[in-house]
Amino acid sequence: MKTIRITLLAVTIVSFSIGFNLFRETRVDEGKYLSDVAPDAVFSSKAGTPPHYKSDREIIAFNSYDIVPAVRGYAGPIKVLLSLNSKGEITGIRLLEHKETPNYVHYLLSADYLSRFAGKNVNDAFEPDNDIDAVSRATVSLNALADTIRTSSRMIASEVYGLEVKGGAPGSDDGRGWITYLALFFAAFASYHVTRRSKRFLQARDILLLFGIGIIGVYLVTPFSIIHVFNLIFLRISSSYLWYAVIISTLLSVVIAGRFYCGWLCPFGALAEYIGKVPLKKWELSTETDDRWRKLKYIILGVVTALVLISRRPEYGSFETYVTLFSRHGDYLTWTLVGLMLIINVRSKRFWCRYLCPVAALTGIFSRRDDNYVSTKDCPMGNKPQPPISECIRCNNCYVKREV
Ligand code: SF4
Repeated sequence: MKTIRITLLAVTIVSFSIGFNLFRETRVDEGKYLSDVAPDAVFSSKAGTPPHYKSDREIIAFNSYDIVPAVRGYAGPIKVLLSLNSKGEITGIRLLEHKETPNYVHYLLSADYLSRFAGKNVNDAFEPDNDIDAVSRATVSLNALADTIRTSSRMIASEVYGLEVKGGAPGSDDGRGWITYLALFFAAFASYHVTRRSKRFLQARDILLLFGIGIIGVYLVTPFSIIHVFNLIFLRISSSYLWYAVIISTLLSVVIAGRFYCGWLCPFGALAEYIGKVPLKKWELSTETDDRWRKLKYIILGVVTALVLISRRPEYGSFETYVTLFSRHGDYLTWTLVGLMLIINVRSKRFWCRYLCPVAALTGIFSRRDDNYVSTKDCPMGNKPQPPISECIRCNNCYVKREV
């Protein structure tokens, strides 16, 4: 494991340096898109406070990011160009730039969806499920988009046109998402500790895994992904409390309890485990062959890390099965992978988690040694006796406190 750690650290540093020198981030030239938000207007150059473009009509245009840079989606700001008339109505909108994961926002940030904001008044609520269609499963991105449009256009309406506008804090979560996530996380973490003391409560994990599928996978659509880690490396920080809840809780749990997330919360791992309960004989591999193939996930993590850090495009991590499945968006190839990785569990326990998952590789690398896990024939990972801790998802089936 030490060699794997050092190799991956070297890959990360070298790839990041190459990417940093090859692909500097360029600022988007918003001026050339002004005709998209107001086709008949002629604009002067950007000026004023807050910065905006005046036109020969009663219309002004502005980049939302200039006004509210603090509002961020899952991977940094979502920059949109807007035009506003003197009545405080949005007359045009165009996406300028974003770094969100395409699977989650493919429709949300399409011209078709954005056009629904045209005609709205700055004093409208701009609330998903109220006056905005919550068609997207990317709740964090949708909230950020609504916030950035609402807050920037209200500021422009007030400062430039002198209109009376409603207040409203930018970047605000309504709390439901992150509170629900943390409640589930702490329930799972408490159960993890209780089951290390008493085997009587082991079934709690089955129930929590179901909640993992329902809450993290279906309701919040925020399974922890390798893309989170890449965005963190690129300092693409969100303004969403849910983002902080997912990242901080998962990374802390890795330090304290290794692959706890995989064993207690991961919605894809949960599905794989349930499918694996189908009473069909599982494929038997020799310990050596099994060990060799389990290293594949570290190679995948290394290759993806190099690819993403050199290209500076975290979305290359979108091949992850949970991203495709829970965002319900992917191409022919990624959906085929999802299908295969679910069906194969009938004959091979948690196949994706054992051999391919980059999050499993990452959490495995940082798992701290614990000799109290001995493994049983009921191991959900199909681990042989005395498995390396990097392969243990801490279900606690085999936890035996050893006397020192
Ligand atoms: S080694 Fe033990 S605690 Fe770890 S996953 Fe297997 S049965 Fe669960």
